Amino acid sequence: MFDLEIRLINMLGLLTIIVIVGLVLDYRNVLKKPMRMGMSLAILGITAGIFLTLSAVLPENDVFGRVFSNTKTTQKVVALTFDDGPYPPYTEQVLDVLKEYHVPATFFVVGQNVEKYPELVKRIADEGHQIGNHTYHHIDLLKANRKDIAKEIDNTNKAILAASGVKPHLMRPPHGFRDPVVMEMMAERNLKVVEWSVMSRDWTNPGVDVIVERTVKKVKNGSIILLHDGDGITSQASRIQSVEAARHIIQILSAQGYKFVTVDEILKKTEDVKG
Ligand SMILES: [Zn+2]
Repeated sequence: MFDLEIRLINMLGLLTIIVIVGLVLDYRNVLKKPMRMGMSLAILGITAGIFLTLSAVLPENDVFGRVFSNTKTTQKVVALTFDDGPYPPYTEQVLDVLKEYHVPATFFVVGQNVEKYPELVKRIADEGHQIGNHTYHHIDLLKANRKDIAKEIDNTNKAILAASGVKPHLMRPPHGFRDPVVMEMMAERNLKVVEWSVMSRDWTNPGVDVIVERTVKKVKNGSIILLHDGDGITSQASRIQSVEAARHIIQILSAQGYKFVTVDEILKKTEDVKG
């Protein structure tokens, strides 16, 4: 009858009711002394709603469960991650750049694309890169029920395993969106939820120089960098800017002394450092 799951959408629904009740109490002059209880309740409800929404969408926020958006380390290491592929010809072009510079990366692949291009997923694994799950249809998990979330994750893991022989233990929810149920379902499957600390909005194709500049200026020791070799499931946009930007980012950061590692490797570098 009632869906009592701790979903973001349910919590926001409940808070909306609380805000309305608060405003009605205030309007009807109820509970106004010694302070305006109704208005206070409404303000509290709005604040809680903003807090919960930010907890679901901000990449570095651990409120709904542990996510990995960077590593605190004194070592000059960074992890390049590519989302939404495999997507020819851009995934091959990214792989060619990575090969040229002997740089490992992590690819968060979309299950539907994996089934279309299994040979690309095999190439990713064969060339020493890490593969993570990015759902089957690149859906917003906040709007999906448990059954659909399970299908999205499990079918993608199956497709990746069939294509590459690798069973992923990393998961990046589309857009980074998660709530307590999403986090619980990842934990049940021993999937680490990986977000990012550096993003350039490369998917909007703002220009190679812009992608490079936005990325390089934000990079610190232990950063996880988000780029895209794919375009969700619509697979229409060019990713040539991201490919070219990846080359420049590798050149610039290497010259600054940074070493590129996979997400697994960077998470092992955690140290108890400030900042
Ligand atoms: Zn994505």
